Amino acid sequence: MSYSVEQEIALKAVTLAGELCEKVRQQQGGQSISKPDSSPVTIADFGAQALICHLLNQEFPSDPIIAEESAYLLRQKDHQETLQNITEQVKAFIPETTSDKIIEWVDRGQGSMANRYWTLDPIDGTKGFVRGDQYAVALALIDKGEVVLGFMGCPALPVDFSDPNGEKGVIFLAIKGEGSYSIALKTGLKKRLSVNNITAPTLLKYIRSVETNHSDRNRQQELVNSLGITAENTQQMDSQSKYGAVARGEADLYVRIPLPQYMTRPENVWDHASGAIVVTEAGGKVSDLDGKPLDFSIAPRMIYNRGIVVSNGVCHDQILSALKLSNI
Ligand code: AMP
Ligand code: MG
Repeated sequence: MSYSVEQEIALKAVTLAGELCEKVRQQQGGQSISKPDSSPVTIADFGAQALICHLLNQEFPSDPIIAEESAYLLRQKDHQETLQNITEQVKAFIPETTSDKIIEWVDRGQGSMANRYWTLDPIDGTKGFVRGDQYAVALALIDKGEVVLGFMGCPALPVDFSDPNGEKGVIFLAIKGEGSYSIALKTGLKKRLSVNNITAPTLLKYIRSVETNHSDRNRQQELVNSLGITAENTQQMDSQSKYGAVARGEADLYVRIPLPQYMTRPENVWDHASGAIVVTEAGGKVSDLDGKPLDFSIAPRMIYNRGIVVSNGVCHDQILSALKLSNI
């Protein structure tokens, strides 16, 4: 098995971080504070990042980690109560945790690019987490510009998508060249994933973000309408879990067209690396709007890509042609 130690540590880290997130959500609801860019961040974002960075750093001290959060806010006087709260939460998993260690572990996620690096979004879809909906603990290993391992912990996602009220909690994991899998958090049941092979546009199932200002909802809808995808075949979900939905055949298409005002805001590697390998190893395809592969050789932002197209593979060229026709 390739990267077997990396797999073992990453799986443990993502599993524990998911437990921490769910515990925080149950105990404290969706309380959040605002980052300087006015996006929300929670105790759970910081706690999950501290926990994962610490566990990775213990085993792979020379691997940089490029993660979403920094400890900048936690050093400020007004946020000392938040820091204390995070410390208590992480202590339940790592007894030697102190506030100083939290700051050190969170900032381990501010690593610089290297040939081999980890990328982490401790809570992708923080707005979904706060709302009580979906989110993903997303961790990936990139080696020479290629994603070789991807993990998405989705503690609130139904194990079986055809039973939305059934058992919850899934980890998606993918290993380069070895497939994509889902593991049920409660039972450990592991399943190999495979995308749908639907090409008829009217049968394609489309999945989009819940948040309307993360991408250009109108232009995405124009594309979807031009393909003849129906409203019944449209669903929405927060976070990279959408990639998991495509990988397990719950959806066939996920498109992210940047809003005109965000055309110059490239996507972050941590928002796509894990999801991308989960889909490609399940037989699907991932590219940007121009059909170019996502470039993970430059981090933290994918400056050479524009938007995202994720599909079951068989309909990918059809989607790219439709995008071209609409001048998107
Ligand atoms: P989703 O639930 O798919 O919309 O994904 C959540 C992710 O959207 C977050 O991790 C953010 O990094 C990202 N995001 C927030 N604002 C924007 C934006 N204006 N354009 C693109 N992505 C964004
Ligand atoms: Mg994110």
